[in-house]
Amino acid sequence: MKNMKPRQHRRRVVRKKQCRLCENKIFNIDFKDVELLKRFQTEGGKILPRRITGNCFKHQKMLAIAVKRARILALVL
Ligand SMILES: [Zn+2]
Repeated sequence: MKNMKPRQHRRRVVRKKQCRLCENKIFNIDFKDVELLKRFQTEGGKILPRRITGNCFKHQKMLAIAVKRARILALVL
């Protein structure tokens, strides 16, 4: 017999994530700013996806470009 227990709808915490870069009014991500780039990377050097960082599209794109440039210069992994 199937367990017909009603599925509990746990309320998800829908805290609206604000883009940290917008908050700090960073409009140009410098690829030489390694500390900043590293904050948006995993330990393995991958760029964290937007759903984790909460970045806006604009900044995520900028970040991805900056990280790729930094990689060429071997500033980040
Ligand atoms: Zn932003």
